[in-house]
Amino acid sequence: MRLVRSLGALLLVGSLLAGTTWSFAQTSGALRSPTPAEVDAIYSDIEALYIDLHQHPELAFQEVQTAAKLAARVKALGFDVATGVGRTGVVAVMRNGPGPTVMLRTELDALPVAEKTGLPFASTVTAKNAAGETVPVMHACGHDLHMAAWAGTARLMADHRDRWRGTLVLVGQPAEEGGGGAKAMLNDGLFTRFPRPDFALSFHDDDTMPAGTIGYRPGLFRAMSDSLSIVVYGRGGHAAMPHATVDPVVLASRIVISLQMIVSRENNPVDPIVITVGSIHGGTQGNVIPDEVRLQLSVRTYTPEVRSRTIAAIRRVARAEAEAAAAPREPQVVVTPSSDAPVVNDVQLTLRLADRLKQVLGEPNVVEMPPKMTSEDFAEYGRAGVRSALLHIGAVDPARLKTARETGIPVPAPHSPEWAPDRATTLKAAVRAEVTALLELFRSN
Ligand SMILES: [Zn+2]
Ligand SMILES: [Zn+2]
Repeated sequence: MRLVRSLGALLLVGSLLAGTTWSFAQTSGALRSPTPAEVDAIYSDIEALYIDLHQHPELAFQEVQTAAKLAARVKALGFDVATGVGRTGVVAVMRNGPGPTVMLRTELDALPVAEKTGLPFASTVTAKNAAGETVPVMHACGHDLHMAAWAGTARLMADHRDRWRGTLVLVGQPAEEGGGGAKAMLNDGLFTRFPRPDFALSFHDDDTMPAGTIGYRPGLFRAMSDSLSIVVYGRGGHAAMPHATVDPVVLASRIVISLQMIVSRENNPVDPIVITVGSIHGGTQGNVIPDEVRLQLSVRTYTPEVRSRTIAAIRRVARAEAEAAAAPREPQVVVTPSSDAPVVNDVQLTLRLADRLKQVLGEPNVVEMPPKMTSEDFAEYGRAGVRSALLHIGAVDPARLKTARETGIPVPAPHSPEWAPDRATTLKAAVRAEVTALLELFRSN
C-alpha cells in the first residue's frame, strides 16, 4: 500500500517535472468525465435496452415490466434497489463513502399515441387507459431514451466507483405525463425512506437542437399546467328552426375565440400564458342542433397570480358568453391541475453544470435555451426543497434540423407519432453528460 502511494507520488512529481499534462483522473483516481471510448464500449448494451423499451411501452402507473427491467439492471450493478415506490417507481441507491447525495431521475411512462415513425422496432402495443378504453401506446416523449441513458450512466458510475465519493440515488419515476408520478413517489417516502438528495438532476430530449447538444436554462424553465373542461348548455332542436333553439355549437365557438382575447387583451404581454382548446365535441349530425357542447382546454402559466387570474377570466368569459346567448344554464367549468409548480432550475447549480459540460463537450455543444411553456413534474423535487436542474439534450439529426430551419416546417417534436430521436448520437451524449454532471457534483464535498 505504502509502496503504491510512493510510486504514485513519484509518477506525479515525474510528470510535473516532465511538463506532462495529467488529467484529474490520472493523478487522484477521480474521474472528471467519461471518455467517448468509455461510452462507446457500453453503447451496444444500452441501445439494445432502448430498442426493447421502445417496442414495449407502458402507460402511466402501468410501467411494471419497464420498472422490472431497470431494477434488474441496477441490482446487477450492486445498487440497493426498491420497486413499487409511488406505485410503479424504482429507487436504486449506491452508497460510496462520504460525500454529497445526488439523484438522477428518469421517467418510465409512455403516451397513448399510435406510432408512425416507420422504424423497424416501432411500437404496435395497445393498452387500457385509466378510463378503461383501449388505446395505442408509444414512447413518443423519449422516456425510453432517458431510461437507456440512465442505465448506461448507472453502469459507468458502478464500474468506476473508485472515481467518486458520495451517495448516488437513481430514480425511475412513473407517470410523468400528467399522471402525478413525482408526487406519488414523494408521498411514498422518496426523500424520507431513501437518502435525501443534495442535488436532483434530469435530462430530457429536445426537438430544437442538434443531436448531442446540451441545453440549459437557469431559473424558470417550464410552465405550470392546468386542464379545464367546460360544458356549455343550449336548447336543442331542428337545424332549420334555429330561432326555437339556443345553439350551443355557436356559443362554444364564440367562447373558443373569446378565450384568446384573454391572452391578447387582458394579460400583460410580458407574462407568458397559453390557452389551447384541444378538444370540442357536440352534436350527432348536421340537421340537429344539440343540447350541449363539451370543450377541453390546456392552460399554461408561470406564476400563481397569473394562473389564478387566467382561470378566473376563463370562467367569466364562459359565463358571460352563455348569458349573451341566452343559454338556459350557466356553463360548468371544472379545473384539474396537472402540474401546479413551474420547473425552476437552481441558478448556481445549472451554471456550474453548464460550465463543466462546456469543458468536456466543447463550448458550442452546450447552449443556453429559452424557457418553454411545456410542463414537467420534475418541478416537484425542487418544490420539495432540493436544488435541482432539468437539462435538455438535442435529439435531431443536424441535417434535418437545418432543412427545418430553411423551410420553416418544424421537425416532429416530442408527443408527435413521428418523434424519433437521432438514436446513437443522442444516447451517447446523454450518458456522457449525465456522468459528467454527476461527477462534477460528487467532486464538491
Ligand atoms: Zn411528454
Ligand atoms: Zn417527457
